[in-house]
Amino acid sequence: MEQLKDIVFPGDIIAKEEEYVSGKNTQDIDGDVISTAFGKVARDDKSLIISVNTTKQSIPLRKSDIVYGKVIKLLNKEAIVLVSGFIREGKLIPANTETRIRLPIPNKTMYSHILTLGDLVRARIISTRPSYSTIFEGGLGVLKSRCTVCRNELTLENGKLVCKNCGRVEQRKIAPDYGNINILGDNHERS
Ligand SMILES: [Zn+2]
Repeated sequence: MEQLKDIVFPGDIIAKEEEYVSGKNTQDIDGDVISTAFGKVARDDKSLIISVNTTKQSIPLRKSDIVYGKVIKLLNKEAIVLVSGFIREGKLIPANTETRIRLPIPNKTMYSHILTLGDLVRARIISTRPSYSTIFEGGLGVLKSRCTVCRNELTLENGKLVCKNCGRVEQRKIAPDYGNINILGDNHERS
């Protein structure tokens, strides 16, 4: 599994600016090179360029696949997730497809205690054509989220999601490894 540590999510720090020049799918922020995509880190040690490769494979999602993706749109009682990778037979496979999550809420204004736009989630496919998935099972849920007021990344502290910038406490349906993602995880099984 040595290649797994090179799999990164949007927002992950992949190098220091003095070590590498930022390449494809990366960005310089405060001295760090940050990944802007879900993919595999590629280091060119001659030119000292670091990039993130996002090779897409057109493998259709199947029921029970565990998917990783970003919430890109909120509808009335559903969220649309752009899936950038999924786990099948213990392997992480890059993807570029969408799935929807039904939100058990009375209306769109109530979503933010479950998830918000831009959240990184781990979900399980429950149907295909159309593709629906769930985050309401053990091991699933939000893996990264930002403060709804100042957009700073939320930190999990004593079971609470805290914004270290403005002090706000927020709630999401988080996965047990929020903030410390275990990609293949030992905690994907249903509770
Ligand atoms: Zn904040």
